[in-house]
Amino acid sequence: MQISPLLAQGFSGLARVDATASSLRATDQGARLQLRLSQGVPWRAYTLDGPPRLVLDFREVDFSGFQGAEFLQTAQILGVRFGTVRPGVSRLVAELAAPLVVAQAAMTVQPETGAAQINIDLQETDKETFSEMSGVLRDPDFDLPDNAPPPAAPAPALGDGPVIVVLDPGHGGIDPGAERGGESEKNLMLAFARELRDTLRRLGGFEVVLTRDDDRFVALERRIAIAHQARAHVFLSLHADALGPGQGQASGATVYLLDRNASDEATRLLAERHDRDDLVSGIDLRGQDDVIADILMDLARQETGPRAELLAQSLVAGMQQAGGPVNSHPIRRADFSVLKAADIPSVLVEVGFLSSPRDLKNLTNPEWRLGMAQAIARGIQAWVIADLARAGLRRR
Ligand SMILES: [Zn+2]
Repeated sequence: MQISPLLAQGFSGLARVDATASSLRATDQGARLQLRLSQGVPWRAYTLDGPPRLVLDFREVDFSGFQGAEFLQTAQILGVRFGTVRPGVSRLVAELAAPLVVAQAAMTVQPETGAAQINIDLQETDKETFSEMSGVLRDPDFDLPDNAPPPAAPAPALGDGPVIVVLDPGHGGIDPGAERGGESEKNLMLAFARELRDTLRRLGGFEVVLTRDDDRFVALERRIAIAHQARAHVFLSLHADALGPGQGQASGATVYLLDRNASDEATRLLAERHDRDDLVSGIDLRGQDDVIADILMDLARQETGPRAELLAQSLVAGMQQAGGPVNSHPIRRADFSVLKAADIPSVLVEVGFLSSPRDLKNLTNPEWRLGMAQAIARGIQAWVIADLARAGLRRR
């Protein structure tokens, strides 16, 4: 992996951003980012590809009062996000409209006031050079110590003890997911995941783990690691996305299975957007598997794939019985990174689409959500029975 210019400097404490003295504007060569901080903090800057973006990490910056819209003064940057990625680490991510690499980056500190200024010059280049110069460096100052999954102890066989279900409320923290009518996907899915957890617990025979139980950012990679740590039998990622203008229409519950190739256009955009929404994590799962790992994962998926398919069918049947509404093509396939645990049957459920007025109304209605939670819980129960029957057939 190649690394773009990366810089770090040692300071401590929490710095505030001076919004009026900070900007991201166009220059002849590309763009210049200026960030004024109340004091120096350890930081680093690098670019990532797919999609191209500039990432700045800090230990630690208070962004309150900072407005992305005022800061951003060039069309070469599509958007800026910032906030806390986990306690002690803040991040600013600028999504680049063109391949811009870090040509120069420095922090200067005024000796009298202690105020610091970061200057980063971005230079336009070609796509190949950008790709070569981009990548994240593993750095103990910034990386999460528990980011790596522990040596995977296999889950106890289904049928021996409780069924371990990992529910993954999509998005969270500085990544709101879809937003419509004052509602956000991250909040609705957190509420729904808690309701589904309660429903499963009431049914009995389930142990339920949430990948997040509050409004925090969790990287896609981390969500999978949590499922491994919990020794999950089954993984459900819960979403309620919105399709933008020109991206087609979608409504009704839809269950997605992992497929690296097959996707209709709307599904492809959805998968891409989810991976892009994870850009704040700095790391994505694409391109990380080497050839050997790929072969091993494919072998594991030969076993897991049909089980995940059966899960999708059971969930759709449960939701149809409960009256849905269910999408007219309820089972789809897409390259969702969060479904890449090779050994855990994983699906992504779009419980509804916030871009559909009917779905939005349903999703914000606690009674409807309870009915949907019961339908999904029954679907999981039916899957356990069907999967055990299949396992019995396989052993014979
Ligand atoms: Zn989503």
